[in-house]
Amino acid sequence: MKNRENNKKSREARLIWEKIGQSIDTPCPLCGQHSKMYIFKYDALACINCNEWLEKACTDPTCSFCAGRPETPYEVYWREKESPSDATAIKRWRRDNYAHKENGRLRHEKKDKLRNFVNQGTSCNEV
Ligand SMILES: [Zn+2]
Ligand SMILES: [Zn+2]
Repeated sequence: MKNRENNKKSREARLIWEKIGQSIDTPCPLCGQHSKMYIFKYDALACINCNEWLEKACTDPTCSFCAGRPETPYEVYWREKESPSDATAIKRWRRDNYAHKENGRLRHEKKDKLRNFVNQGTSCNEV
């Protein structure tokens, strides 16, 4: 019974991700997993395993892709899944997720690596 519920959940999750983006079959430059996705709405690559954007947003506040892009790719999923008005739940989710994920030092190192990587350019054509 419990297993069946879990299966249903993971199928639901996969369907939501398929709606949001398309998996890219090349390894993530940070974790090496084949968990890269192109997120349609924000015209950007992300790694679902790292929960990081692999392309930085541009600074144009009127950019239809980058303006309103959430801090983490998982929030795109969350917004698709849950009612979009539930900002408190997003905040709570973000806090819990980050607290359990890894210790601060590791996270910091990954951020540096990510920064070097994304400095190669933005996803959209910044003018
Ligand atoms: Zn990754
Ligand atoms: Zn942009």
